[in-house]
Amino acid sequence: PEVTESPLLQHLNDEQRAAVTLPNAHALILAGAGSGKTRVLTTRIAWLLSTGQIGPGNVMAVTFTNKAAKEMMTRLAAMLPVNVRGMWIGTFHGLCNRFLRAHYKLAGLPQGFQILDTQDQLSAVKRLMKQHNVDEERFPAKELQWFISGAKEEGLRPGAMEVRTEEDRRKVEIFQLYEEQCQREGVVDFAELMLRSYELLRDNDPIREHYRRRFHHILIDEFQDTNKLQYAWIKMFAGPGNSVFAVGDDDQSIYAFRGARVGNMADFVREFQVGHQIKLEQNYRSFSNILDSANALIAHNKTRLGKNLRTDQGPGEPVRIYEAPTDMAEAQWLVEEARQLAREGIPRHEIAILYRSNAQSRVIETGLFNAAVPYRVYGGLRFFERAEIKHALSYLRLLENPNDDTSFLRVVNFPARGIGARSVEQLQDAARASGSSLHDAVQATTGKAGANLAAFVAKIDAMRVETAGLTLREIIEVMLQRSGLIEHYRAERDGGDRIDNLEELVNAAESFVTQEGFGRDAVALPIDELGGTVLRQSPASQGLDPSLPEINEPAPDYVPPDAETGETLSPLAAFLTHAALESGDNQAQAGQDAVQLMTVHSAKGLEFDCVFVTGLEEGLFPSERSLADYDGLEEERRLMYVAITRARKRLYLSYSQTRLLHGQTRYNVRSRFFDELPEGALKWLTPKNQSFGGSAFGFGMGYPTSRGSSAGTSRASETFASPPVPAQKAEPAHGLRAGMKVFHAKFGEGTVLTLEGSGQDARAQINFPRHGQKWLALAVAKLTPVP
Ligand code: ATP
Ligand code: MG
Repeated sequence: PEVTESPLLQHLNDEQRAAVTLPNAHALILAGAGSGKTRVLTTRIAWLLSTGQIGPGNVMAVTFTNKAAKEMMTRLAAMLPVNVRGMWIGTFHGLCNRFLRAHYKLAGLPQGFQILDTQDQLSAVKRLMKQHNVDEERFPAKELQWFISGAKEEGLRPGAMEVRTEEDRRKVEIFQLYEEQCQREGVVDFAELMLRSYELLRDNDPIREHYRRRFHHILIDEFQDTNKLQYAWIKMFAGPGNSVFAVGDDDQSIYAFRGARVGNMADFVREFQVGHQIKLEQNYRSFSNILDSANALIAHNKTRLGKNLRTDQGPGEPVRIYEAPTDMAEAQWLVEEARQLAREGIPRHEIAILYRSNAQSRVIETGLFNAAVPYRVYGGLRFFERAEIKHALSYLRLLENPNDDTSFLRVVNFPARGIGARSVEQLQDAARASGSSLHDAVQATTGKAGANLAAFVAKIDAMRVETAGLTLREIIEVMLQRSGLIEHYRAERDGGDRIDNLEELVNAAESFVTQEGFGRDAVALPIDELGGTVLRQSPASQGLDPSLPEINEPAPDYVPPDAETGETLSPLAAFLTHAALESGDNQAQAGQDAVQLMTVHSAKGLEFDCVFVTGLEEGLFPSERSLADYDGLEEERRLMYVAITRARKRLYLSYSQTRLLHGQTRYNVRSRFFDELPEGALKWLTPKNQSFGGSAFGFGMGYPTSRGSSAGTSRASETFASPPVPAQKAEPAHGLRAGMKVFHAKFGEGTVLTLEGSGQDARAQINFPRHGQKWLALAVAKLTPVP
């Protein structure tokens, strides 16, 4: 057949067509963002199939994310009548899993082997350490987990590890024991999926030959982000008759921190004697204001292979830049802007909100949630669903209700405190037999296990006493310390993010009390208002028209305030309700048109009509950690390049003067990246202030700057940026103060512990000796001072 006449080739430029129709030999397509690399890769598969050169079983294509793999299959299916689901298209882990399922016996695994996620892996390491009396002081479990995964990603087994010190010897010994335990239990961790596939291919000639004969073509997208083991794995498939087709962009290498080697591109060219290298220089994604911004920015990097990128599209709209006084104001602005875009007819899924770190998403989620804008968070759990947040909420729930068995089970041995699965089982049996909660059943336990359980219960009970009368923020801070959660994550390899999130929980509580009007929500109209928040969301999340009137029926779990006593939720209970409701299904449902939220890392390879890149502040983006070394800054700049180049039509860049992060207000300097963009392509929505950024170094992150804020922002600045005045300081109209004795018709005499809010929202925490501590709404509760 006249292969170059395929209709598939009509929508390609000359270079792209050349790449798609390359002969059966190794090739590297090195090209900038939006130049059609992924399109070329997909079209090449379709072209090879449609011209009858190969069948669907002769191709293996590797992508970086599940989303990208799905996208590729969808595009292929649209080009050809082929069963794409049977094809070997997927992520490295996905394909390795498939490979091991097919060859489980040769791989030495049970047919139904289970995959350990990072958390499971850690528990497994801990369990093992306990069994073998490994000193946790000397060998923190997290460090060992890191050691084990790191070794595997380098392709190393215990026997191949270098042992220089006694400590090395011990670590390798544990690595060995860990492997035996996983083998015994028939489980594999993520790194094991890769390594075991690699080893089977390496050591089993017939298997390797089989796959080499089978996969004539191996195609890899985002090649710049492959690590050492992945590259070695690819090499296993490449025999004399195969062709490896790698596409990538050195300017988009953003996973060096996880072991990705951009050097794999040079190694590939050398080791595979790559005869075909094609550059694509035409960008089809973005208007030139966007593209010029990307090009100007990345030109500041020194270590580049060097590529050009141009577009035939006109300048398009300018890149819009917005300076907000606070992160809340930034969120409000972008929610408003996103709604406006949706009103103008842009589908919501064509609007992406990007941020540097996951901890930034909460403020944005809250804004979207309150405005009933459907959204979807990618590449991460929703804030309240994250494991560390769930653990923290479990402790808080136990403070509220010691009999909450689910929370009890979740944290009884988290962080690890020597309470094994067997002890927990015995406790559960005892609780069942006596019909009591786990908390109460602890009393009857004996022995060492019993002592550990009793210590856990005593810890929770002590925390409850300690936190009585404290503000919500203080309660959470005490809990984070006393529970050991902070300490626990501090020792973990990637615990930094988790600690950030736990500190975000403090912020969430803080703004729940101050900004979202805890008083109004939880006291004046306790639960139906909270339910109302969710119901406002429901028309949108059910796929109904969000412009429909709100549903005003009470939530099913509506409990009216006790009219007689005025008893209402404690701030903690109200916050827990809020967290529980928010973590419900408020995320846009599958298939529903929703605004897309994700980190810049997870946006790699994707494109959207409108993109917001938020939080562009020194210390955040570029991140604080990256500023320490030059390579770090260049990687941040590549990340910024990735962010900018996601946009087709409209790009917004925003930053905030202050940001509540890690539990404190930071005063920010705008990102140096702004000074690396071409002024002519930009439009400042807020007046451009004196540059505090620039390429100068030495300005600290988060130090207070007294910058003259413009007239347009000063009002908002006062509203949001000034520290919230503690409610206790408000003029008390009710005449109560802490320490005062009062009388209540039902609860009798008590002592005022805390006062919060004012006017209709005023509430008091009162300790009644016979009834315990209660939160009462002063507008409802009849209290008389006792002289
Ligand atoms: P990234 O580096 O971000 O992964 P990429 O190089 O993989 O980008 P693609 O996603 O393949 O680029 O293509 C970018 C956009 O340009 C897509 O919408 C694609 O459909 C379009 N495109 C690519 N080539 C052409 C072409 N020849 N004519 C028209 N549109 C094209
Ligand atoms: Mg791509």
